[in-house]
Amino acid sequence: MNKKLFVISGCSGVGKGTVLNEFMKRNSDKFMLSVSCTTRSPRPNEVDGVNYFFLSCEEFENAVKEDKFLEYAQFAGNYYGTKKKFIEQKFNQGMNIILEIETQGALQVKEKMPEAVLIFIVPPSIEELEHRLRGRNTEDEATIQRRLNEAKIELERSKKYDYTVINDDLERAVLQVEDITRKELGE
Ligand code: ADP
Ligand code: 5GP
Repeated sequence: MNKKLFVISGCSGVGKGTVLNEFMKRNSDKFMLSVSCTTRSPRPNEVDGVNYFFLSCEEFENAVKEDKFLEYAQFAGNYYGTKKKFIEQKFNQGMNIILEIETQGALQVKEKMPEAVLIFIVPPSIEELEHRLRGRNTEDEATIQRRLNEAKIELERSKKYDYTVINDDLERAVLQVEDITRKELGE
C-alpha cells in the first residue's frame, strides 16, 4: 500500500503536541511518530529515545558530518534533526510517518521528498499563542521571547505548506488532520 510522510509544523505553543497526541490515540495502527534528535535539555517527564534522542552538540555535529540526517535545523539555540535511518526503518515496517518539526527542516524534507505532505498548525491569534506558551510553564522568559520571535518567521514560511489547520477547538483541529491524511492516502 501507498505509505506517506506527513510533516506537521506550527509555532511553539500552538498545540502541535496536543493535536498529535490525540491523533495518535485514534490512528496508531497506521501512523508512527518520528523520534527526532536534539541538543536541547530534556524537560521533566521527557524520556530519551521516546520524546527525543538527546545528543550533545558534538554528537549532533558528527552526525551532520556523516550525512545521517534527512533534515536538520537550528531552532531557538539548539539543533534538531531527523535521522534518515529512523525513517527508512519505519517505512520498512509498513507505517505512515509523521514528523513534528519546524519549518526550515520541513522545507528541506519537501525538497528531498516532494511527495511529503506539509501541514501547518496556526493559533487562533498571537495573543492566544503567547497565553498557551506561558500556560505550559516549561520555558523561562528569555526562551518564551525567542520562541515568540521565531513564531513570526515560521508563519511566513508556512505559505509553502500544503495545508493549514487552525487549532482553536482541539477536536475540530484533530478531525481536520484526520481528513487531510485520509484524503492524501486515497481512503
Ligand atoms: P506545541 O507542541 O505546539 O509546542 P503544546 O501541545 O505543548 O504545544 O500545547 C501548548 C499549550 O496549549 C498546552 O498547555 C496545551 O494544553 C494547550 N493547548 C493545546 N491545544 C489547545 C486548544 N485547542 N485550546 C486551548 N489550549 C490548547
Ligand atoms: P521543542 O523544543 O518545543 O520540543 O521543539 C522546538 C521546535 O523544534 C518545534 O517547532 C519542533 O517541531 C521542532 N523540532 C522537533 N524535532 C525536530 C526535528 O527533527 N527537525 C526539525 N527541523 N525540527 C524539529
